[in-house]
Amino acid sequence: MTKTLLSGGTVVSMDPAVGDYERGDVLIEDGVITKVAGHIDAPDAEVIDARERIVLPGFVDNHRHNWQTAFRGIGADWTFGQWATAMHDTVKAHYTAEDVYAATLLGRLEALHSGVTTMLDWYHVAQGPEHEDAAIAALREAPARSIFCLGAGWATPRPVDDDIRRVRCALDDDGLLTMAFGLRGADDTGMDTLAREVQLADELGLRTSLHTGSDGTQRPIADMHKSGLLRDTTTFVHGNGLSDEELRMLADAGSSLSVSPDVELKMGFGAPMTGRALAAGLRPTLSIDVVPSVGGDMFAAMRAAFAAQRGLDGGLRARDLLAFATIDAATSCGLHDRTGSITPGKEADIILLRTDDVTIFPVTEPVGSLVSAGHPGLVDTVLVAGRVVKRNGALVGADLPALRTRLLASRDRIAAAAGVPLDGTWAPQP
Ligand SMILES: [Zn+2]
Repeated sequence: MTKTLLSGGTVVSMDPAVGDYERGDVLIEDGVITKVAGHIDAPDAEVIDARERIVLPGFVDNHRHNWQTAFRGIGADWTFGQWATAMHDTVKAHYTAEDVYAATLLGRLEALHSGVTTMLDWYHVAQGPEHEDAAIAALREAPARSIFCLGAGWATPRPVDDDIRRVRCALDDDGLLTMAFGLRGADDTGMDTLAREVQLADELGLRTSLHTGSDGTQRPIADMHKSGLLRDTTTFVHGNGLSDEELRMLADAGSSLSVSPDVELKMGFGAPMTGRALAAGLRPTLSIDVVPSVGGDMFAAMRAAFAAQRGLDGGLRARDLLAFATIDAATSCGLHDRTGSITPGKEADIILLRTDDVTIFPVTEPVGSLVSAGHPGLVDTVLVAGRVVKRNGALVGADLPALRTRLLASRDRIAAAAGVPLDGTWAPQP
């Protein structure tokens, strides 16, 4: 049996039954958290010194399109229409399997580096089995908990029923890499196709994720409700503009909501739905969505969602944001029995955050400090299922220079093939 003791840290467990410790220990045995206490005697354990560290469950990002990593930061000024034109209508068709692999691996490692131990990779580059397998291989290679969410794509969708069945056979439900089904909305594909896809998910026992929203004229959730298509295994992404009645339908169905606050505010989706979701009885979760437009770390997502809601109505507390980004998002992925809090019996997906860093010191109130001033530079140590995958601020065993070279080559090749400039003058015309 392998034993690891996280010793003397400030434990923020995100489990009310466990509570927090100003100074406490966490014992991990064979990858599973077995004890959390003020002091634990474990003379035979490997000790990780957690003094001057906050010990927190790893973040869960339940919606990110990793395949766009090669174009990180290029569209900070873009509207949603420009992003869609650029990514889906212009560059996507030029992606090879190698491009998908490089973007997925570096995207997943960046998130892990920033403390995201669990990520749902919402795949909609949708070129065929070879590309899908490249994404799966990259997610397997990153020593993290990942969910490959296979979608039919967007703008130029292809039917993926056969692919869903094929990947379902290839991935089991117990490992670090599992799968989900990325559904197309009825506005994109029609209610008949959506119904068929939901039926396939039911048949295969797959959780699903679906982008949705309304400008006030559509009622996508009410339409799905009427057709009997709401499930407690579906995460609805964004949802900006949904009526309170529709939010209550989601709450009643046990569905979940993924808010991407930066993207929604910057790209014209409308106000994030955190406050209204809570009022309707629906726990929101947080996600990054697309890194061409926004940063990839959950600290920024928490801060944006917090500021947006406070600006609207003064709502939310710092601990709410931390819950959205950990336990609530784990629940939305169906992984709350495994991850999302520091709870005995769960797998040890834990991050250690520096409290001695000058950007956050002195830490008098850990939750408030993390939500208001946290950043990826604080992430000192990351464990996934008890395995140390980041130590002393560096990912273990990742050849980042080689991967950077690979991703640059990929970006340059795609851009050349698509005929788009990389000198800052690319202004997509929707
Ligand atoms: Zn998305």
